[in-house]
Amino acid sequence: MDKPMIPPAVRAYLTAQGFKPKKRLGQHFLINAGIISKIADAASLTAADTVLEIGPGIGTLTRRLAANARMVVAVEIDRILAALLQGLFADQPQVIVVQGDALGADPDALVSAVGGAFPYKVVANLPYYITTPLLTRFLEGGFKISLIVVMVQKEVALRLVARPGTKEYGSLSVLTAYKTEPELVTHVSRGSFTPVPDVDSAVVRLAVRTRPPVAVGNEALFFRVVRTAFGRRRKTLLNAFTGASLGGSRETWRSVLNKAGIDPDRRGETLGLEEFALITGALAERGCV
Ligand code: SAM
Repeated sequence: MDKPMIPPAVRAYLTAQGFKPKKRLGQHFLINAGIISKIADAASLTAADTVLEIGPGIGTLTRRLAANARMVVAVEIDRILAALLQGLFADQPQVIVVQGDALGADPDALVSAVGGAFPYKVVANLPYYITTPLLTRFLEGGFKISLIVVMVQKEVALRLVARPGTKEYGSLSVLTAYKTEPELVTHVSRGSFTPVPDVDSAVVRLAVRTRPPVAVGNEALFFRVVRTAFGRRRKTLLNAFTGASLGGSRETWRSVLNKAGIDPDRRGETLGLEEFALITGALAERGCV
């Protein structure tokens, strides 16, 4: 395996700053050049692209992205790493390092504030603790993102690409299939990082759809229906919906599901996008539950 070490100058800087990788920030740095290439290739970068990178760390992936894109906006929460990156990329004006928390930020605002172009691509080796909330927000938020290529924990990757009827299939799978065309790019062993994490990882490519694959009148209601159906996973749809936050009596839900043509005794994990859309439509038609 082609395995570049952390450059001596970077190591020296970090040692001088007393830097120790923080587990709580998911600081596991990618040191496998082959995987860095696979991530960059999956992003299909052109000289016109703006890339938003979340958590650039010590800048290994950043450097590769900057070689192929017009601009890389790199958001790093760690002050020592952000200062390191500002120094490393001082002679590359196309790399803009922003010190801050990507989880709370508006990605469109981050990109436009520094003159980036819309739509843009999100590329990241994501810290584990923000993966699900960040992807959920980026997918639901209607931001000007055309493509997301991310390294995530293997279990999350399997959920992102899961099909109905599998044990990995859940509300994140439905949201991802509704908003994107997901693809698993590669599995990544834990030895590709320093320090070595406790879990394996995988890279996924999510090509954001320009229009949804099924007609959903009310997206917010659709997402609530999906979450409720998976909220009590082992239950039938009728039991999962009755008494949940959407309201409605057992009889109301039986009639909504009948109207949608869905057997109330089925479980959420067997439903495809079209079927969730049918339930949302039947619910919206009723006005309220
Ligand atoms: N991209 C680098 C690589 O591939 O080697 C580092 C990836 S490491 C898994 C995750 C990085 O995200 C760390 O540098 C960490 O400090 C940063 N990070 C953690 N939480 C963050 C947040 N909320 N916003 C921005 N960066 C964050």
